[in-house]
Amino acid sequence: MLIISFFKKASVVALGLPLLCSSLSAAEFISIGTGGPTGVYFVVGNSVCRMVHKEAAEGRKSGRKHGLRCAAPSTGGSNYNIGQIKEGELQFGVAQSDWQYHAVNGSSKWEGKKFGDLRAVFSVHPEPFQLIASSSSGINSWEDLKGKVVNIGNPGSGQRGTMEVLMKAKGMSVSDFKQATELTSSEQVGALCDGKVDAIAYTVGVPNGAIGQAIDGCGAHFVNLNSNVEKKLVNENPFYAFANIPAGTFYKEQKNDAVTFGVMATFVSSADVSAEIVYEVVRAVFENLDDFKKLHPAFTNLDPKQMITNGLSAPLHEGAINYYKEQGWM
Ligand code: GLU
Repeated sequence: MLIISFFKKASVVALGLPLLCSSLSAAEFISIGTGGPTGVYFVVGNSVCRMVHKEAAEGRKSGRKHGLRCAAPSTGGSNYNIGQIKEGELQFGVAQSDWQYHAVNGSSKWEGKKFGDLRAVFSVHPEPFQLIASSSSGINSWEDLKGKVVNIGNPGSGQRGTMEVLMKAKGMSVSDFKQATELTSSEQVGALCDGKVDAIAYTVGVPNGAIGQAIDGCGAHFVNLNSNVEKKLVNENPFYAFANIPAGTFYKEQKNDAVTFGVMATFVSSADVSAEIVYEVVRAVFENLDDFKKLHPAFTNLDPKQMITNGLSAPLHEGAINYYKEQGWM
């Protein structure tokens, strides 16, 4: 029933009848929080919008004609996105699976700020946590970061949060560094290549253009993160897994395999967003998954069965469940 009334509204909009303004509740314009413009989240958000618009009312003689309009601006990243969804400023966002877990459980950075209405929609690509050091830094292990200039990331980004978790687990704080900078993901590679910082951290899908610029463009290298500290993190937390970025595969100048731990990129929303809207977004993505997968090489291995389970710790949104059940996936 609800779905039908939703379409009615949408078709009024499509015809441009006088009801146009009043029938467009704010929620019919959806905003998706992403990350820095050089990251993969930005591509996720804009690819979702592209699929949604493909099915929108205009220009379609037949088939789906919903009234959703979508925007996916660049943002500060995972925790920023979750916070803005909680405030009702964003309807969807991309977020690391560790921060999805902590937000819905009120743990770690989200202690005292639990967001119980956070909803999982689907997961996307794996994101290894990548520590990269410049060629002149002399950094070959985590311990070598002591006394160096390290970019810990902008507040709100997923990598900033995960870097803080790792620092704590390693018994280190920013005072162990010569300087801790807070550059965004799109600023940090330039700073690394210009010698302004010695190391950067980035939780991002593989391959990523900015990482390529660091490894292939200015001779930077991955620092392995596979000591007992990371093993303990992976063993104790369901949202972490070890990841391997094989040498010379995604980045020509990468000499050795990189071993590190990582998370999943996930697509999240709020229980406050209607089931009809979430259903349409999910439907647009899965009905067009082959097209979606072509929009970034990090999406190549996306598989619906895994996308509806992997890395999801918040309850699935009702609108997503409706679609997954309809498909016989649940
Ligand atoms: N994982 C990063 C974050 O949570 C963003 C990565 C990206 O933009 O692709 O902030």
